[in-house]
Amino acid sequence: MRVVIGLEIHVQMSEAGSKLFCDCKADYRGFNVNANVCPVCLGLPGALPVVSKKSLELALATSLALKCEVPKFIVFTRKHYFYPDLPKNYQISMFERAGGVPICRNGVISFLDPSTWEWKTCRVRRINIEEDPGRTVYEEGGITGSPYALVDYNRSGVPLLEIVTEPDIETPRDARLLVEYLLLMLEYLGVTNPRLEGVFRVDANVSIGGGERVEIKNIGSTLDVEKALNYEILRQTKIREAGGVIERETRHWDAMRGITRPLRHKEYEEEYLYFPDPDLPPIAITEEMVEKALRIAEKADLQVLLGELLKLNVPPEHAWSLLSTKPSLELFRKTVSLGGDPQLTARILAVDYKGELREQGRDPYDPSSWPPLETVLELVKLTLSGVYPYDTIKGLVIPALASNPQARLETVLPEKAGDIEVAVEEVIREEVKAVRDYLQGKTQALNYLVGRVIKKIGRKAVDPRVIREALEKRIKSVRST
Ligand SMILES: [Zn+2]
Repeated sequence: MRVVIGLEIHVQMSEAGSKLFCDCKADYRGFNVNANVCPVCLGLPGALPVVSKKSLELALATSLALKCEVPKFIVFTRKHYFYPDLPKNYQISMFERAGGVPICRNGVISFLDPSTWEWKTCRVRRINIEEDPGRTVYEEGGITGSPYALVDYNRSGVPLLEIVTEPDIETPRDARLLVEYLLLMLEYLGVTNPRLEGVFRVDANVSIGGGERVEIKNIGSTLDVEKALNYEILRQTKIREAGGVIERETRHWDAMRGITRPLRHKEYEEEYLYFPDPDLPPIAITEEMVEKALRIAEKADLQVLLGELLKLNVPPEHAWSLLSTKPSLELFRKTVSLGGDPQLTARILAVDYKGELREQGRDPYDPSSWPPLETVLELVKLTLSGVYPYDTIKGLVIPALASNPQARLETVLPEKAGDIEVAVEEVIREEVKAVRDYLQGKTQALNYLVGRVIKKIGRKAVDPRVIREALEKRIKSVRST
């Protein structure tokens, strides 16, 4: 049966600096409860909202990146509902009717399937800018059992983008790929950090075989987008096959149990009593604003960035790996601009170094997990010089750098076999007594000799086991002659 999927993606503009209408922080994580608040985001009487320029700029850049029609002016609307975490009893949002004008209409997103290198498209119906509500916490038995509720307004007023697609998506996997690609795009635009806890939520509409559409609310991870849709399609297929009818409804994704559950009958939009917010006059979108946003959007065009990598003959899977970890792409571009070989640099950064970070449980998205530019450039040149086989670079040097990215390259380079032999030879010649002691069975004399060899080699990283082995072998051969 034909599957039709549409998405509504809510993303916090965590990188916007401030909340949407006040100076409290957009990234509220790490604050004590109700410590990131002011009269505006607490909805106190007399407090007036003032739109953050940065949020507006980022929302406009997103709209342009998604090839939207940009309006001459935008109008915020009030969306009324009553819930403790919404202190004003309305959310400032945008609505395409009732006098509201959203920041974007009729866009399109092209997204990549990195496993087949196929580009797919999905139309974007509109983008709204809105404020996040606060958070209600129920202790002791959850929403039905708890005798009280706690409200934290740290999140209240955080700028959100609501990106609504047309129902153009045909498979749960494509839905996941679209969300992943969109989040990466928003990261490059400087809108959000997709790895922050709770920074995005997805609602998905799905219908099969022309039946009623069911909305799945509150999906919190990209993997769950695919899982929730797969579950829902299976559920609807079973009902249809048993002769039943799919009802239009809203369901909740229960990530713990991996199922969707009925939530409530669809609320109709009229129930929200939308009207233009009288505190916020229409905001003109000037040509100057558009030009500035266009420059942000152009620099963050993932298709262009990928194209540049492919032009340098970087294999597609390495190119995608570089792109999907922003610090590695930045390091790659700088290294190549200073003469580093593109293919080798890509292989080291996108495959072996990134793999090693994962192996060691370090965060590849944290720029401090990556070595400085000079180290990478030196490493690339050294690898090309052929002094060390690539196995040694991969097996010894990269793991040592990954565990200490600030280490100077020469301190993590292993000794070349020849250098160890020379040092061992000299130490055996100089330390006659210790060698004799060792031969007479005083095993600790070998530790002393190992120490002497390490000192002779100098500051460079050496593996004591290798030296011990070389010493033993050499002493044995001296003895047998
Ligand atoms: Zn505030």
